[in-house]
Amino acid sequence: MLCGFYPHLMFSQQDTHTGLVAPHGALQRGADCHMRPPARTLLPPLPTLFAAMPHLETILAQAGCGPDPSTGALVAPIQLSTTFERAADGSYPSGYVYSRENNPTRQQFEATMAALEGGAACAAFASGMAAAHAVMQTLAPGDHVILPDDVYHGVRHLVATLFSPWGLQYTIVDLTDLDALDGALRPETRLVWAETPSNPMLKITDLPAVAERVHAAGALLAVDSTWTTPLLQRPLDLGADLVLHAVTKYLGGHSDVLGGAVVARTHEDFFERLRAVQRAAGPVMDPFSAWLALRGMRSLAARLRLHCETARRVAAFLDARPYVARVHYPGLPGHPGHAVAARQMRDFGGMLSFEVHGTRADAMAVAARVGVFKRATSLGGTESLIEHRASVEAPPTRTPETLLRCSIGLEHADDLIADLAQALGE
Ligand code: PLP
Repeated sequence: MLCGFYPHLMFSQQDTHTGLVAPHGALQRGADCHMRPPARTLLPPLPTLFAAMPHLETILAQAGCGPDPSTGALVAPIQLSTTFERAADGSYPSGYVYSRENNPTRQQFEATMAALEGGAACAAFASGMAAAHAVMQTLAPGDHVILPDDVYHGVRHLVATLFSPWGLQYTIVDLTDLDALDGALRPETRLVWAETPSNPMLKITDLPAVAERVHAAGALLAVDSTWTTPLLQRPLDLGADLVLHAVTKYLGGHSDVLGGAVVARTHEDFFERLRAVQRAAGPVMDPFSAWLALRGMRSLAARLRLHCETARRVAAFLDARPYVARVHYPGLPGHPGHAVAARQMRDFGGMLSFEVHGTRADAMAVAARVGVFKRATSLGGTESLIEHRASVEAPPTRTPETLLRCSIGLEHADDLIADLAQALGE
């Protein structure tokens, strides 16, 4: 059995903050419609749980660790069992029923994520897109959402192709323009989706300013924080209501696990609907992925320091190249969002993009010449990646055809810079 810092988790199948069993009604039943265990209120709230570990780095370094009570193993085992034994009296002594509903390894990941983001609860999903899908699924036909103009193309595609025909209304807005946001908010707006830095233009959204307007309109603010992780930016502290992560990226950190997570500021209402979607539809993070994610997270703080430091050097190098027309990196003093980013982020991240002079073919030619960088999509792994973003995104893309996006990995900065120099023809 696992447990780490929170041994009580092995006896609990309820959400980590209040100890309540959610959701209610029909969804309270297990996969085989067994009655779920009675609600317990054993869990201390998260702030108490993690009180001895005030720094995120400390929580991360020991994520998924802790003596297993049955063996003393320091690294928690993976709980692959899909089902859990029921006692003769029909009760569930462990608190677990069936792994789609709840699983000890997934629950450990969720508790860790909620603590890292300073939220009340977390739901973990099979991928970042499964998490985004679940968030949209909590809304109703006729509801209105606002997406940023530089939103991750998968989210735009999801809303346009699946949710719009189902009746969700949406507007695409430049969230760096607060007047444009004011103009787009409607009485039926339920959710505003932000992503900062954005993908792939690295636009910076002023989260406190946006949150104020969104809340005044009676809507919720969700922030896709995949690119920053809780170490660089904590959206709930900045006014957001929900934080989404593609765990696939920096949290997993090794390009070998797919996962998604949504952390909510409070446990009520919205989160209960999200939990209902997670349990009823079943797009859950599997135990092996949860275990791999926790393993990856143990080195996140150290990795991220190097990602940021090297990205800063690569951005400065590119910024001085005559063949490069523009560098998009919020750590550059000339970036239009630099001041806001410096206010709300602890560092500027490991992602950047740049535009070359010329045409799509010129950008493709630069990507074709790299050797240390790998030509692939995705981000947040140890290896540096470069991609011609417009050709990866589904049409209609707004990304310039001359833009290349880089995920800066953990290689030596000099090798990455030399690789880009020769690819740029220097
Ligand atoms: N959000 C952002 C910012 C992303 O970059 C991605 C994937 O690239 C996703 C969400 C979707 O994550 P996943 O690929 O795990 O579904």
